[in-house]
Amino acid sequence: MSKQVYNFGAGPAMLPVPVMEQIRDEFLDFQGMGVSIIEISHRAKQFEKVLLDAQERFRQLTGLPDNYKILFVHGGARMQFAALPLNLANRSAGRKCLYVETGNFAKLANKDAKPFGDIQVIASSADTNYDRIPQITPAMVDQDAAYLHITSNNTIYGSRYQSFPETGKVPLIADQTSEILSRQIDYSRFGCVYAGLQKNLGPSGTALVVIREDLLGHAAAEIPTLLNYETCAKDNSLTNTANTFAIYVTGLVLKWLQELGGLAAIEKVNEQKARTLYDLIDGTDYYRGVIQPEFRGTMNVSFNLPSGELEAKFLQEAGEQGLYALKGHRSVGGIRASIYNAMPMAGVEALADFMRDFEAKNG
Ligand SMILES: *Cc1c(COP(=O)(O)O)cnc(C)c1O
Repeated sequence: MSKQVYNFGAGPAMLPVPVMEQIRDEFLDFQGMGVSIIEISHRAKQFEKVLLDAQERFRQLTGLPDNYKILFVHGGARMQFAALPLNLANRSAGRKCLYVETGNFAKLANKDAKPFGDIQVIASSADTNYDRIPQITPAMVDQDAAYLHITSNNTIYGSRYQSFPETGKVPLIADQTSEILSRQIDYSRFGCVYAGLQKNLGPSGTALVVIREDLLGHAAAEIPTLLNYETCAKDNSLTNTANTFAIYVTGLVLKWLQELGGLAAIEKVNEQKARTLYDLIDGTDYYRGVIQPEFRGTMNVSFNLPSGELEAKFLQEAGEQGLYALKGHRSVGGIRASIYNAMPMAGVEALADFMRDFEAKNG
């Protein structure tokens, strides 16, 4: 038995142990076929069942209305940064697309969109190092725009929208990569929600896109086939060879989440995990949280120690104790504990114990 390791990596992130055990157990022989899930055709009826099952489980977990499609698309979350304006900018006569900049990925989202629309950043928290979510009032949302894009959870900093802006008839689009299925949200508030799989759903390189049907059919003439959400919806994500393994793993993660009690249950656990770390941080001056308390999410807890040397020592000793991948993003440094759905409370408690102990010895 190897020593207990808790993986706090931001993504690819840890997966639930029972899911990985099932993958291992049926890897060489998928459902008595004598071949692996990664060796069968994406058009085989056995795989089709896996795909439909994953979509159905997502719908059950979220209560997603019938007029939304669930797509699995290539290229992870970032490919969608370009795909979104290519699919949707034409909804606006001036190809106007609105963005809110609340962090690194939010910034990349509008950068990658620039070639394909009239990209306007209507609010930003860059001036305070992304330590908050700026207020979006209805008056700020130009009703002629194709959509408003937000990053609902900011992975590097740990901030999230506690509630979502009122956008009138402008569809709200959210990059939910680092928080999808971590809390209950009302999908009918959104035109589109998307997420790279590798944080709360499965392996990297593929994204899940949830899109309202009336937003399909507006794609730019020059859009590459595989970026066209309408085509993808028509072909039920099988225009070309899908990432069959990623979809299979996602289905297992969704099943795990259902068996745990669904979104209400995981939301409670996630709040308890985040509170455990933030209570500790708030109870001392030794650790300092990166974002303003009212904007804290539950998935990524970013904080600093009194000096860079202490942070290096913290990371070194944490690693030796099996607390893995706590280094903050290369753009900001410091410490970041990513505590996605699969991180058990025991992992968070092990980190909290280590933090108290480290402060006592190095405070
Ligand atoms: C991780 C992350 C991304 C990047 O995902 P890729 O699949 O690597 O493109 C984009 N947005 C957010 C909010 C993320 O957390």
